[in-house]
Amino acid sequence: MRFHSFLIKYGEIGIKGKNRYLFEDALVRQIRFALKGVDGDFHVHKAQGRVYVDCEGDYDYEETVEGLKRVFGIVGICPVVRVEDRGFEQLSQDVLDYMKEMYPEGNQTFKVEARRSRKQYPKTSMEINCDLGGVILDAFPEMKVDVHNPQIRLNVEVREEIYLYSEIIPGPGGMPVGTNGNAMLLLSGGIDSPVAGYMISKRGVGLQATYFHAPPYTSERAKEKVVDLAKLVSRYAGPIQLHVVNFTDIQLYIYEKCPHEELTIIMRRYMMKIAEHFAKENGCLGLITGESIGQVASQTMQSLAATNAVCTLPVYRPLIGFDKREIVEIAEKIDTFETSIQPFEDCCTIFVAKHPVTKPNLERIEKSERNLEEKIDELMKTAIETTEVITVKP
Ligand code: ATP
Ligand code: MG
Repeated sequence: MRFHSFLIKYGEIGIKGKNRYLFEDALVRQIRFALKGVDGDFHVHKAQGRVYVDCEGDYDYEETVEGLKRVFGIVGICPVVRVEDRGFEQLSQDVLDYMKEMYPEGNQTFKVEARRSRKQYPKTSMEINCDLGGVILDAFPEMKVDVHNPQIRLNVEVREEIYLYSEIIPGPGGMPVGTNGNAMLLLSGGIDSPVAGYMISKRGVGLQATYFHAPPYTSERAKEKVVDLAKLVSRYAGPIQLHVVNFTDIQLYIYEKCPHEELTIIMRRYMMKIAEHFAKENGCLGLITGESIGQVASQTMQSLAATNAVCTLPVYRPLIGFDKREIVEIAEKIDTFETSIQPFEDCCTIFVAKHPVTKPNLERIEKSERNLEEKIDELMKTAIETTEVITVKP
């Protein structure tokens, strides 16, 4: 079947009243962004409280649908056949052609749902429903009308042209990116943090990211993997400013000065501080991590409390109650899993102690950090100043 447009269905929650246009404008913007790389010429527009994607000329249907499935805020994608209004006789024929091609079995239950935005059309919506219902019943003797729970809902929208659609492809839900500010994702090369970024972005939040790189202990390939992950997330979240921090000297200094079993916690506190610096500098309203309670020693309740203590911005941890299996499921769905499991070293695993503390005491950690007083400010300053910023797009 050749479809000429897509009707975009979006959720009603949170878009009532005055803010509705902001939501719709963000949705239109994100749809345009998602279709940028897709073969075809698209006209995305709002009309009578709806959003349409009109496809001019030839286009790649599969790619278009895939693109739209990554736009947060879309609840359903309806492929539309547009026909010219050349009288009811012709419309009946067009509807039969549509039904034959879409439902060749011809044995389902159905209902016609007409809507007119052009009120001078010679038939009322009710009349269109009845008359087209009759036409379909005549042509498909095995089809039946079911007005309550039909298998096929044939929508007939009378606009300048007439729009026919009956399929709804599920969208990702959520809110369009751009409707809820920005946040800074701590992005590692693992499975969890890309999923965490995806989940917060789904609520309409634009992303920036910070990656802590420790050359020569972590390779250039490890960094490329993080860029690749940011790219995959940006297919949903839009362009991401990725801050690549050279963390080696800070790590070595902590290693030299602090008890080894506290290394991971202290390191994570400095990661948070640096990420927060870039967050504030770039107007982000929160930090995002892929932490989940109890997953590793640095994610016990005590460890999370110790890490959290250095932050003044809210820290969003969308995976906090998830098991690894549940996280992997989402990673597979959003296509980050295969990249995440590529075996490259992570800066956290290099200096990791045999027996890290699992119940760090904040006072003791703060006391250990006093051993860093001499050089840490200077090292932080250098790390911040030498940070590489990469704009990542799909
Ligand atoms: P992930 O799968 O996301 O790497 P993880 O299970 O390996 O998570 P940790 O290494 O304890 O867990 O890291 C917890 C969180 O801290 C990560 O989800 C990420 O948000 C952040 N993080 C860890 N290492 C880095 C890094 N090198 N750069 C940026 N953020 C990091
Ligand atoms: Mg990790």
